[in-house]
Amino acid sequence: MKLGIVGGGQLGRMLAIAGVPLGLECQFLDPNPQAPAGAIAPLNVSAFTDQRALRALARSSAVIGFDWENVSVEALRKATRGSGARIAPPLRALATGQDRLLEKRLFERLRIPTTRHAAVNSRAALWRAAAAIGLPGVLKTRRLGYDGKGQAVIRKHADLDAAWQSLGGVPLLYEEFVPFDLEVSGLGVRARDGTVALYPLVRNWHDEGILRLSMAPWQAPALERQARRHVRAVLREFNYVGVLAVEFFVRNGRLIANELAPRVHNSGHWSIEGAVTSQFENHVRAMAGLPLGSVASTGHSAMINLIGQVPPAAQLLQVPGLHLHDYGKSSRPGRKVGHCTIIASSAAERDRRTRSLLRALHLRLKQVP
Ligand code: AMP
Repeated sequence: MKLGIVGGGQLGRMLAIAGVPLGLECQFLDPNPQAPAGAIAPLNVSAFTDQRALRALARSSAVIGFDWENVSVEALRKATRGSGARIAPPLRALATGQDRLLEKRLFERLRIPTTRHAAVNSRAALWRAAAAIGLPGVLKTRRLGYDGKGQAVIRKHADLDAAWQSLGGVPLLYEEFVPFDLEVSGLGVRARDGTVALYPLVRNWHDEGILRLSMAPWQAPALERQARRHVRAVLREFNYVGVLAVEFFVRNGRLIANELAPRVHNSGHWSIEGAVTSQFENHVRAMAGLPLGSVASTGHSAMINLIGQVPPAAQLLQVPGLHLHDYGKSSRPGRKVGHCTIIASSAAERDRRTRSLLRALHLRLKQVP
């Protein structure tokens, strides 16, 4: 079966790899001729909005999906109409995942605690939002933000002008700054027949808005119960098909939803080696209408993102049991170019090996156990 995927980044590349043993062939559309998925599967180099290319993808695929949020919902809807291709995950989830304000409204509707926030469309509205919600706060673009891009922390009134200067002109969202204790994410997968499976809770460490480290399973039963309930509610709401992630702040033992991703997620990369069935395999299984695989963890995993450039493989692979994933991307500061995962037989062993690996990579993160 052919799966057409709009966007050929590292997520698409890992979806394609997961599909191979199952006989699921991915094909991609991406404007970048060097898109990482192109090394694994056919890549049509076209703009995301190119109707002719999108229609050709839809006509030659049984199912159409996407590997990032910022593809046009309208262009996808138009291109798939009458093509016979199904769309998974659903476009309604994609539309919500593209817009931070729609995400917050969804969380509120589903009674999932989220940050206090206000839509900001003018300079005056920003001042009003800061007065109503208070300082410190975070100003974010509603759309097209990722890895901490398109956002500014506002600590005092004097910062408002600079934040407006750098982000104003597009629809924005102002929200309270959460002095969180930690960050976690919940990943779930829903099959076409409605079966749901929820991965173990993941703890995440960000630096400058970019995910650096994820550990799973993160053993915090009360938090995991809340996360499972919230992820399940979102999956049900959309009649969802595929993997979906929700990122949360944790403050005083309570989850506060930050954002959702209607796709496989960086905080689930550990599952390639650390779960019975990876998020990538379960996503393509769900797209293809196949039964889901077990999401149980096989050990205690830590996943570290390689940002900017991949260190020499000969150096990394000296670490016993380390799994390296090089996305084949060119080096650039702040760019996710690969990741590595270690799996240990106990949480204490995982933590010890993670600390040592972080030191070797010259990465300093706060509160790593
Ligand atoms: P986002 O793009 O919304 O996922 O933000 C990236 C990272 O920035 C988050 O994972 C947090 O570490 C930090 N961040 C974003 N929004 C807030 C907030 N309202 N309060 C505190 N930290 C935040």
